Amino acid sequence: MDCLFCKIVSGSIPAKKVFEDEHAIAFRDIHPQAPVHMLVVPRRHVASLAEVGDSEGEVALLGHLLSAVAEIARAEKLAEGYRTVINTGADGGQTVNHLHLHLLGGRSMAWPPG
Ligand code: AMP
Ligand code: ZN
Repeated sequence: MDCLFCKIVSGSIPAKKVFEDEHAIAFRDIHPQAPVHMLVVPRRHVASLAEVGDSEGEVALLGHLLSAVAEIARAEKLAEGYRTVINTGADGGQTVNHLHLHLLGGRSMAWPPG
């Protein structure tokens, strides 16, 4: 499958990895929008949040990804806070069709988003 993040997971495209475990990896975004900008992705290809069902395994995977965000934020010492974003589909601004959680930190964030 021609998926950029599957290639990063398999190691065929390099990335600055910051975390990995059995179900997920995290790496630095190539175009950082904040001093800290990581992407947390499942190892298994899931196209988007819209593709996630309600099976126990899928719900557990989502919890696992969020838990990885919190662990990485602690490791990056983002004690002042951070933002977690999941862009979904065209209106959500998703450009890579492999589920990913953005972890943004190291500066104060604006709201509402553009
Ligand atoms: P989204 O727009 O939510 O789909 O986010 C995709 C993100 O992937 C963007 O923030 C891009 O900067 C990032 N990105 C694209 N290609 C790479 C790459 N090769 N390594 C790391 N991040 C990437
Ligand atoms: Zn993929």
